[in-house]
Amino acid sequence: MTSMREAVAGGKVLVSDGGWGSFLVARGMKPGECPEFWCISHPAEVGEIAAMYAEAGADIVMTNSFGGTTFKLSHYGLAERAAELNAAAARLSRAAAGPDRHVMASMGPTGKILMMGDVTEAELYAAFREQAVALEEGGADACSVETMSALDEAATAVRAVRENTGLEVVASFTYDSRSPSGWRTMMGVSPEQAAEAMLEAGAHILGANCSLGSAEMAEVAAALRAAAPGTPILVHPNAGRPVQHDDGRIEYPETPEIMASATARLVAAGANIIGGCCGTGPEHIRAIRAAVDAL
Ligand SMILES: [Zn+2]
Repeated sequence: MTSMREAVAGGKVLVSDGGWGSFLVARGMKPGECPEFWCISHPAEVGEIAAMYAEAGADIVMTNSFGGTTFKLSHYGLAERAAELNAAAARLSRAAAGPDRHVMASMGPTGKILMMGDVTEAELYAAFREQAVALEEGGADACSVETMSALDEAATAVRAVRENTGLEVVASFTYDSRSPSGWRTMMGVSPEQAAEAMLEAGAHILGANCSLGSAEMAEVAAALRAAAPGTPILVHPNAGRPVQHDDGRIEYPETPEIMASATARLVAAGANIIGGCCGTGPEHIRAIRAAVDAL
């Protein structure tokens, strides 16, 4: 299989997948349960989510491994099962994706802050190395170090992936506030800073996911494109900013049609890989697929 960056270099726009968490909940996952444990306790349900995205036309299917570092799993007493859970996550997505789609494994933040002395860099590195090695062993060909807000944690994760696996690696940050000089993560990181530090750490692809809807995400894509003219860019916008109703229900405003209509704008801004994050599902991906095919 050609790598994602080779496909992008050949002029392709790739379609990635959408949200996972709400579909686990829809299949019966209760508050307080460990999502990654579902790879072992409910493999059929997890596999169904991956299959749903493959069927919707995604070129790239992710994995149920966002909280798969030992740090996150330790909240559930599952730290010692990190390798087993991550390998299972990758196997389920590979089985659903088949040999011709990418399995891009999800690697989320640990919840520990290096700057605060919560953890050492060596401990973070070891956790990301264990996760990445298991994801590759389970059949992933790529991974996304995603929803990151701190440069040092993301750089440690990217190095752990590059130095211990052959996975193609995306470094994707979550930009959630607009300063006078552009978008910033919760830790104050700009797209320009992320681009420089992640390329230095060895990332193949730069990305942005979560928090922003399509229109704001196009601004982030443009900033990343300007900072790294030759690097593929992935965006996974949310289905807009969630609206909370009086009855407590949370609704995401961007329909599949709205997100699909933003595809050309995201591509014009510099995005090469387009999927979705919170509030998106297979119908969003199906609509984005059609929009990409029509470009
Ligand atoms: Zn999200």
